[in-house]
Amino acid sequence: MNILSVNAGSSSLKFQMYEMPAEQVLISGVFERIGMEGSFYTIKLNGEKVEKKVELKDHKKAFELLVKELMDNKIVDTLDDIAGIGHRIVQGGSYFDKSVIASEDVIAKIDELSKLAPLHNPAAIVGIRAAEAVIPGAVQTVVFDTAFHQTMPEENYLYALPYEWSQDYQIRRYGAHGTSHKYISQKMNEILDRSDTKLITCHIGNGASISAVLNGKCINTSMGLTPNAGLIMGTRCGDIDATIVPYMMEVLGLSAKEMDTVLNKQSGLLGISGVSSDSRDIEAGIKEGNRRCLLAQKMYVRRIVDYIAKYYVELGGCDAIVFTAGVGENSIPVRRQVVEALDVLGVKLDEEKNNIRGSIQKISTSDSSIKVYVIPTDEELMIARDTYELINS
Ligand code: ADP
Repeated sequence: MNILSVNAGSSSLKFQMYEMPAEQVLISGVFERIGMEGSFYTIKLNGEKVEKKVELKDHKKAFELLVKELMDNKIVDTLDDIAGIGHRIVQGGSYFDKSVIASEDVIAKIDELSKLAPLHNPAAIVGIRAAEAVIPGAVQTVVFDTAFHQTMPEENYLYALPYEWSQDYQIRRYGAHGTSHKYISQKMNEILDRSDTKLITCHIGNGASISAVLNGKCINTSMGLTPNAGLIMGTRCGDIDATIVPYMMEVLGLSAKEMDTVLNKQSGLLGISGVSSDSRDIEAGIKEGNRRCLLAQKMYVRRIVDYIAKYYVELGGCDAIVFTAGVGENSIPVRRQVVEALDVLGVKLDEEKNNIRGSIQKISTSDSSIKVYVIPTDEELMIARDTYELINS
């Protein structure tokens, strides 16, 4: 059975097609600059990457070209060969604790939640509508970034703000990257061959979050109402004293929108270093003796360690710490510094094993009190799995 895993942004459409249940990737690609000048798409097939410049008026055009590529490359013969399309949705609010079929009622709820994810939820709906129009026979499903975190207890998801705000305005912690945290925690449990585990999952990419996962269920996560909370990220500040916001708005005469841009686009590694949001550039800056790059990395690592320590206590111990995403899978120095800072808990790094990028690897020593792993994430596969299960249920 062929399943498409789709991630629609406001001007992009990423896709991956799977043969299920074999979980084999048949073709993948991305359409970029949809509705803009200079639009193009890239297709990856049999290890080869091809880029094509085309006019992409809208997402529907992108789906039409996607179907053409599937047919031209003999991945499918007819549209009926596409059984399901799973869409990634950033914000599912308190409505969704699992993936569901994209009924009209579900789409209306995703639309209602657009106020919490103004950049992402409307774009995902555009993607669903375009897929419906071009491939009407496929079952459409929605997979939420927030769903895995819905098992958090109330004391962890509420903010100490007026209680009514949580009831009247849905102000609470929802978290994000849930599909990734779920994938790596399941994979970790498979490796440990147990499900009664205490895991700390670290999704450290350009956006970054850490979750505490007890017996396969999320009990706490570092992102909040929005992805701005928690860790220091590429351009997001993470946790700060909230009163800085109104204070600096007054000092600099910033509007709410301008302040939001500072907190989400001009802070984090970029804000501290003044150099870049990319940890590769920060590492290069450190080699050249740039003091602010060194400071940015120290602060970045400190915050990751703070969350691991917090969740270690909350979980009452830990069986494994897992690193994933761009930095977690690739940055040897960030992983080293995090594990070294956990020395007091008896966590020990195997330097040689840590010398890897992008593959599953245990990086702790055999006498380490907590196992430490690198597990590359695969959110697209999770979307395909959930879609396959929904079709067959
Ligand atoms: P997102 O999905 O949040 O956009 P990714 O998980 O793809 O982000 O992570 C992208 C980030 O990963 C880059 O900004 C960079 O900081 C980091 N990264 C990628 N490769 C390396 C590397 N070899 N060494 C250090 N950091 C890396």
